[in-house]
Amino acid sequence: MTANSNHKQTFRATYGPSKSIDKESIKKKIAEQLELYDKVNAKSGIENKNALQTIPLGVHSSFQSFDPWPISMTSAKGAWVTNVDGRKMLDLSMGFGAMLVGHLNPDVTAELKDTLEVGTLFTSPSPISKDAAEILCKRFGIDQIRFTNSGTEATLYAIRTAAACTGKDGIVKIEGGYHGSSGQVMVSTKPPLDQIGPADDPIPYVPSTAIAGEVYVAPYNNAESLERIFKKHATTISCLIMEPVMENIGIVVPDENYLERVRQLCDEYGILLIFDEVKTGLTAGPQGAAQRLGVIPDLICLAKSIGGGVPLAAFGGKSEYMTSVSDGRMSHLGTFNGHLLGMAAVKVIDRIATPEKLAECEEFNLQALKRIGEIIGEFELPAHSVGFGVKGCTTWSETPVRNYRDYKATDFDIAELSFLWSINHDIMTPPGLDEQWLISFAHGQPEIDYQVEDFRNFARYLRS
Ligand code: PMP
Repeated sequence: MTANSNHKQTFRATYGPSKSIDKESIKKKIAEQLELYDKVNAKSGIENKNALQTIPLGVHSSFQSFDPWPISMTSAKGAWVTNVDGRKMLDLSMGFGAMLVGHLNPDVTAELKDTLEVGTLFTSPSPISKDAAEILCKRFGIDQIRFTNSGTEATLYAIRTAAACTGKDGIVKIEGGYHGSSGQVMVSTKPPLDQIGPADDPIPYVPSTAIAGEVYVAPYNNAESLERIFKKHATTISCLIMEPVMENIGIVVPDENYLERVRQLCDEYGILLIFDEVKTGLTAGPQGAAQRLGVIPDLICLAKSIGGGVPLAAFGGKSEYMTSVSDGRMSHLGTFNGHLLGMAAVKVIDRIATPEKLAECEEFNLQALKRIGEIIGEFELPAHSVGFGVKGCTTWSETPVRNYRDYKATDFDIAELSFLWSINHDIMTPPGLDEQWLISFAHGQPEIDYQVEDFRNFARYLRS
């Protein structure tokens, strides 16, 4: 084992020295793809122009916006989406991972329809909401849970729970980590390099609209830097919030023993460990990332994959901390918490997200990663492959990315070209140039072949 080898439950492969690609040629190809974009996505452009009248950026979450304009969708089924230009696209974004079981999964739609015979919102307890809590506690190995409607709420309340339990307000987060859009966690999500100090001791970057409070920022995969922060500020820090595997800057996997050391440090300094599993969750495996990686947090945040496309999230963990909700130290509120469609989704997802089905998806994901890796090697591209569970990504750097600073050194021009190419060639990947693909229950051999063949065509284009 070398100091930088990745956790054995994660996938990362590099392919030796690459041949450089001329910057001018990439710029020329981006211009070419933008020209094509105008043609094949013209109606989406008109849609966006019209939407701009009533909706800022023409979208209801700024994540959905990208240049030159986002693709406007009309329907989705299985692993495919149809857009207003009449094109059918292979969906590799799958609702940023929320559509793990596929669009309009028949089991999910049947369960939701049945539930609509019973009600939509009771704002009262119900056997249905109790059952859903039991299901998730069992799966994720936690004592108690509370439902919310978005990942943002889940992380916000988990942090408040930590504050209530410890009597401290400060938090530590990982540089480049995204945990939703509440004040504290907006610090250093994608900070500008010229304002964040040295890589080993980052300076927190507070966006102008965030009311952040006391927030410290540590580099991922660097337990020494984390320990320095703990040593200096443990008396005011309530928790460390982190994704066990970072999934908002491509996929960045933990070094071997890193998470174990983080757990030790949190215990040593009396700081709660919160795992944000909004993105990992069931996409990491049948019991989530924590259990798969063998490091158990104090509190956990869940969303996306547990809800089958219905707005649903949760926070939970050890009862010694969740009692702060029961005894009123932390009040957790929300009209829609525990709404019936979400509860029904938990039930059906639990039934269909079997270890066997998830293993099958993971096998397809590994196949995609390996075949794409072979193409990277064959064309000597400056890229490597990373994966975890049913997610994978191509990262445009020859060497492994272990933290935010490494990620910032990857080739964003090729990433942009790859993104435009995919859309123009009927593949939808998440916007942002750095996110990952998801192999859902609805992706099979034809979809993997389509994805891999498209990558081969892109590799040829890059070398042309
Ligand atoms: N945490 C992580 C790791 C996320 O990726 C996201 C959203 N992508 C959130 C929290 C926030 O979730 P939501 O968008 O449901 O508020």
